[in-house]
Order: sequence, then C-alpha cells, then structure tokens
Amino acid sequence: MLPEIRSALEETWNAPVGNWWGTSEGGPTGVSCAKGSGMHLADDLLIIEPVDEQGRPVPPGARAAKLYLTNLYNLILPLIRYEVTDEVTLLAEPCPCGSQHRRVDDIQGRLDDCFVYAAGLTVHPLIFRSALGRERNILEYQVRQTDNGAEIAARCLGDVDIPGLRRKIVQELAQLGLKNPEVSITPVERLERQAIGKLKRFFPLLKED
Ligand SMILES: [Zn+2]
Repeated sequence: MLPEIRSALEETWNAPVGNWWGTSEGGPTGVSCAKGSGMHLADDLLIIEPVDEQGRPVPPGARAAKLYLTNLYNLILPLIRYEVTDEVTLLAEPCPCGSQHRRVDDIQGRLDDCFVYAAGLTVHPLIFRSALGRERNILEYQVRQTDNGAEIAARCLGDVDIPGLRRKIVQELAQLGLKNPEVSITPVERLERQAIGKLKRFFPLLKED
C-alpha cells in the first residue's frame, strides 16, 4: 500500500487502515494489528532476514534492499534463505498491542523496479510513482526505462496535463543527475498484464552481459 493510497483511504473513511503483505512463495508474511502502525511479521512461520544489496543484515529503522525468507512449515516446497526483492524496513519500537512479533513498515517498492542509468546512477520508482500517482485522472501506468529516460504509457480517465507532468518528471530526473533526460507519456486504451493478472509497472532496461 503506497502512502498516497493510505492517506486517500484514511481521509475518505476517517478510519484506521490495515495492511497485509504476502508472497506467492512464502504465503502470508506480514499482517496489521488494530493498534500499531506497519505490519507484524509471521515470525512463527517464517524467518525473515532484511539485508542490503550484498546480503548483509540491515538493522531496524533502515530500508533493506531485499530479504531472505526461510519457511518453517512447508515440507512440500521448503525455502531456505530464498531471495525476495521487496524493500522492507523493520520497526524498532514494540507494538502497543503487546505482540512480540517483529513489525515492518508498509512496503514501498521492489529492488527490481529501480532503473540504473549510465555511470551507475540509480533512480528509485518513487520518482515516477509520486508524480503519476497524484494525477487523479491517471488510472494506471507502466514505465519503461530507456537509455536516457523513460517511456510512460498511461490509462487516463479524463483530462491530464501531459506536458506539465512530463516536465515535472524530466526535472526530477535532471535533479538526480541524469543529463538531458528524455521522457514521453502516451495515453493508451489498455496496459498489458502478466499471466497471473498482476500489473507490472516498472520495466528496467535489460543489461547486456
Ligand atoms: Zn500490534
């Protein structure tokens, strides 16, 4: 659940919003309780190790690049330190509900979604998401990395100031250090989905090696 979606839900219903985090491979991984923020980890079912890009442990309060997941109950498909690229942040404080299960903050993205440009310049998907997610008339979008920017396809519901939005994203990329970024935004009728029905939003350039 992205911050902009959480705040829209809270404003609309004036009620606390719970969250749930799961992985196809590991099952239910984190669940909100009624008291504290974030989600409790299923520490009784899984061993979850937040790590950095090199696989070193990341302490509470810092965003991990990925995690290793070991399941303790699935004897048909045991997973041992299986890599999941969700970027989790462990919360250090105990939860007011009293549960000793560790907590993580809402998941904000996946390491796989980062775009890496020339000279190793890494752009987090948040740059695109915060600009596109704030346009109420953009229903969904897909962002494809190009050599020097991105091609964005958007399903729009009504009028969208496409030149203005494009300028905003170009500016953000330039501020991050991308020289003369090239960004295009094209309204489309439909976006292609994965076989399981999920919408993949970010397509990094494949590295040639
Ligand atoms: Zn709790």
